[in-house]
Amino acid sequence: KDEITMLGGAFDFSQKTVGQVMTTLDDVFMLEASLSLNFEVMLLIFQSGHSRIPVYDKSRDNIIGVLFTKDLILLDPEDSVPIKTVLLFFGRTVLLVFFDTTLNKMLNIFRQGGGHMAIVQKKKGGADENPETLGIVTLEDLIEEIIGQDIVDE
Ligand code: ADP
Repeated sequence: KDEITMLGGAFDFSQKTVGQVMTTLDDVFMLEASLSLNFEVMLLIFQSGHSRIPVYDKSRDNIIGVLFTKDLILLDPEDSVPIKTVLLFFGRTVLLVFFDTTLNKMLNIFRQGGGHMAIVQKKKGGADENPETLGIVTLEDLIEEIIGQDIVDE
């Protein structure tokens, strides 16, 4: 039965796009770039349970970087380090992809390195308009498609 589920998953995989498996923007836990990592903010990160936290400037669709929670383990909340300082120090790059990217292509992008999370965007009508941000996609979202089952987080 598991094999059949996986074959079905593999078939769907080649048909699907990141827009169909992403976590939509409203459901993404993010932080505003002007915040500092005081106790309250660190607690929010801890409670979110996520290992990567997109950081936005002013509006949630303007993602300027990603915080990795593993980068924060040596920080003292008493120091209240600005999020911008951490972004500059670690210089984690943000992968950007369009919503119609196929899952095959997305898997190859993740395999080539540069991170296991990407920001999903959609081109807007005007040539000089910034793309619209729709959500995020991670390697786990792709794996769930391949195995045809949800992975319950630890
Ligand atoms: P994590 O273990 O950090 O949550 P995973 O890559 O294992 O990250 O992803 C698990 C699920 O959580 C996926 O569906 C992914 O899209 C979603 N996810 C990852 N990071 C966030 C976040 N910051 N806010 C909301 N959902 C997230």
